[in-house]
Amino acid sequence: MSDVHLKLSQVHRHYGEGDTMVRVLEAADLEVRAGEMVAIVAPSGAGKSTLLHVSGLLEKPQAGEVEIVGTPTSKLNERGRTLLRRNTIGYVYQFHHLLPEFSALENVMMPQLIAGQSPKAATERAQELLDSLGIGPRALHRPAELSGGEQQRVAIARAAANHPRIILADEPTGNLDPTTSGVVFDALMNLILNENAAALIATHNHELAKRAHRIVTIRNGLIETLVL
Ligand code: ADP
Repeated sequence: MSDVHLKLSQVHRHYGEGDTMVRVLEAADLEVRAGEMVAIVAPSGAGKSTLLHVSGLLEKPQAGEVEIVGTPTSKLNERGRTLLRRNTIGYVYQFHHLLPEFSALENVMMPQLIAGQSPKAATERAQELLDSLGIGPRALHRPAELSGGEQQRVAIARAAANHPRIILADEPTGNLDPTTSGVVFDALMNLILNENAAALIATHNHELAKRAHRIVTIRNGLIETLVL
């Protein structure tokens, strides 16, 4: 199996028709390998969310191919896309979207239980992830009892719960102060290295982006390497 976990080839994604058409991606190419974190830095409206949605099989490009761990997706039906997404992709949002009635541990167990794991195995995996992200002692607290940085680390643990091969994150530290952003970013980086996952992270924070293995931007519909 190739270690390229995410591959976009000649991807076109546009919105609308005719005069009002917005061409976001035009012949975009990108490869992200196992254990690699790629940061996307681009102005608002450049297409970062579109790139993440297309990479996460949440939006279908009009043309081109998105390969997920070696599987081409352009010919899959909705069911096939959903299954592949569930089995291989973890998503982290700017806001944590944790379930308020459940503890941190339960929030991380949830996707595993839905995937058919036993409660015992799900508990062990959840605790292991929370420990590795430095928030093990907070496992039994509900989201409202956690700081913003802790909440976001729980969201990262939840995204990683089912061993995704690809982690996509849309401004995961966008809502945090600079010090906390650094802690959360480092936790995310460690996780990606430990799990040997591929990660694509949109961020406005240049200092954090520089800690990624590679930085890309979106320009004229193409994905280009960026040196900050
Ligand atoms: P970013 O995440 O970099 O801010 P987006 O990917 O959200 O950028 O958007 C890229 C461009 O595509 C913007 O001009 C936006 O207005 C447009 N766009 C995004 N989604 C839609 C949609 N569903 N319908 C029409 N235009 C859209």
